[in-house]
Amino acid sequence: MRPRLREVRLKYLDEYRSAPAVRNLAKELKRLVTRPWTIMEICGGQTHAIVKFGLDELLPEQLTLLHGPGCPVCVTPIELIDQALAIAARPETTFCSFGDMLRVPGTERDLLSVKAAGGDVRMVYTPLDAVKLARQLPDRQVVFFAVGFETTAPASALAVVQARELGLKNFSLLVAHVLVPPAIEALLSSPDCRVQGFLAAGHVCAVMGYEEYKPLAARFRMPIVVTGFEPLDILQGLGMCVRQLEAGRAEAENQYSRAVRPQGNPTARELLRRVFCPVARKWRGLGEIPQSGLGLREEFKAFDAGLRFGVTEMRAAESSECISGLVLSGLKKPHACAAFGTRCTPERPLGAPMVSSEGACAAYYRYRKGKFLRHDQIT
Ligand code: SF4
Repeated sequence: MRPRLREVRLKYLDEYRSAPAVRNLAKELKRLVTRPWTIMEICGGQTHAIVKFGLDELLPEQLTLLHGPGCPVCVTPIELIDQALAIAARPETTFCSFGDMLRVPGTERDLLSVKAAGGDVRMVYTPLDAVKLARQLPDRQVVFFAVGFETTAPASALAVVQARELGLKNFSLLVAHVLVPPAIEALLSSPDCRVQGFLAAGHVCAVMGYEEYKPLAARFRMPIVVTGFEPLDILQGLGMCVRQLEAGRAEAENQYSRAVRPQGNPTARELLRRVFCPVARKWRGLGEIPQSGLGLREEFKAFDAGLRFGVTEMRAAESSECISGLVLSGLKKPHACAAFGTRCTPERPLGAPMVSSEGACAAYYRYRKGKFLRHDQIT
């Protein structure tokens, strides 16, 4: 019997990638769609799944997918990367970062170049590794580059709490955390916005819940469906979104109920609330968005690397060649960039979306370069 969108109940990861089930859900989507609709998936993880599994190529012609700004590495503005580079180049610092950030170009170089020039730059898997390093290296200033959405911010908050409890004076965070709902609001408030429905990021909502999406859905008359990352998740999320659009409804719904509760993870949320407060933050391509970032609360300001190293006033201009702003706001697809696959490749990236494992340009290069580049252009 065919699985219908609302009947998908699976247990093992493989089942979420079952080709017959994917084909059946795609067919059902074709039956559901009667008019043109444009839906944006927020998260870069979803973008990669869509491109990797070719889900967009299975959709009805009237259904257009746009890729959103949900890649935290990609939206980190170049001036914050320059601030990270300035701190990392100091002789007294040990600069720690997730791997994705190491190759993101700043104005003149990246963190790996600083390392090659003798800087102590290290890749870590969690900010708690950086706290451990600060204990092991009391004569060094250990700095963690805190990049990410609501998913990774609780671990940064925990690191600061731990560092304070341990009395560490040589640990700090360069905070670049960003929040999803203000970015959705900014996109929807733009006169260029073509989006009619959103797939929200399941992992962000596993932490934050999805109550805060309800007023957004109501205010902008916009279906928002919290969605997972496997092919069946994404097709089911699209189906739920299309059902709403076809019926003229605009609600926040939850496709990813196996991981997301309405209230999210209360412990992680409380940790975030205790350590961080919302601040204005500049997003690459979207500009400054009020209340869209996390900053350390007054009582934790001693752990602010930007203040400790006096780099908060550094400013930088984005590359004129890289159109990542248009890509991140869903106005252009990566292959519309003149530099795609030629002057910009994963080995020699011009912009963050070509570096990050969640970047749309990296996804198109990895899975679609044969479609968009001539044979002699592919490296
Ligand atoms: S292909 Fe490269 S230069 Fe073009 S938008 Fe993407 S990251 Fe920027």
